[in-house]
Amino acid sequence: MRFDIATLFPDMIENYLSQSVIGRARAKGLFTAETHNIRDYTLDKHRRVDDTPYSERQGMLMQCEPIYRCWQAICDMSRSQPHVIYMSPQGKTLTQKRSIELSGMEHIMILCGHYEGVDQRILDKIVDEEISVGDYVLTGGELPALTLIDSIVRLLDGVLAEPDCFEDESHYNGLLEYPQYTRPEIWQGIRVPEILLSGHRANILKWRHEQALLNTARKRPELLKSYPLTDEDLSIITKDFDGFDS
Ligand code: SAM
Repeated sequence: MRFDIATLFPDMIENYLSQSVIGRARAKGLFTAETHNIRDYTLDKHRRVDDTPYSERQGMLMQCEPIYRCWQAICDMSRSQPHVIYMSPQGKTLTQKRSIELSGMEHIMILCGHYEGVDQRILDKIVDEEISVGDYVLTGGELPALTLIDSIVRLLDGVLAEPDCFEDESHYNGLLEYPQYTRPEIWQGIRVPEILLSGHRANILKWRHEQALLNTARKRPELLKSYPLTDEDLSIITKDFDGFDS
């Protein structure tokens, strides 16, 4: 899978993508990521990429032409038309489901805005999709782009040790993860649940599912509305929560 990231701050992107799990996956060639400094594509002799908005609003807007030329260069270099995502607080909020869908794509270009954002005409011309990381406004699209790339890359073959590393994680199947414990068995007098020490795999799997249900009901009950609860699931939750509304 290939990512091309168009940004005014390539170092921010490069720094994160060369560290930890994602950095190792990139070094192994499990995905490729090229950062492109939009400033390299301006025709302005002062390398200017922004100007004041016509709406008489304060602040600066990123101009169309450098972004367009950057997109064209990416298409030429890769000999393909990437799926273009603009990171934007106006986009659909990123979900695990969308990351799973995007992990099946061959080539994604991500446009990171800055300042007051980007001239609408370039968005209309090249962008396929706008994605937000939440209903708040950040200074630039770099953190959102990294969030998106990270959430996709960890789903790619070979990045994590086993698929169940992410399949059991929160949001993958619509539930939050069950509580996790590691050594020591007793810490400050608090014991790890007995069942986890039993070595009985079927019982442990059952416990994991029950705890995932209860954890979700406690912390994010609204998620259960779109989870296919069985009668048994319902009885597990209602035993714990009086008046649980499915
Ligand atoms: N004026 C824009 C608006 O109100 O929609 C916000 C511009 S913001 C200061 C600058 C850039 O940060 C945006 O162009 C976008 O790329 C990025 N950004 C800010 N918040 C974001 C969010 N919640 N999700 C994704 N990208 C975001």
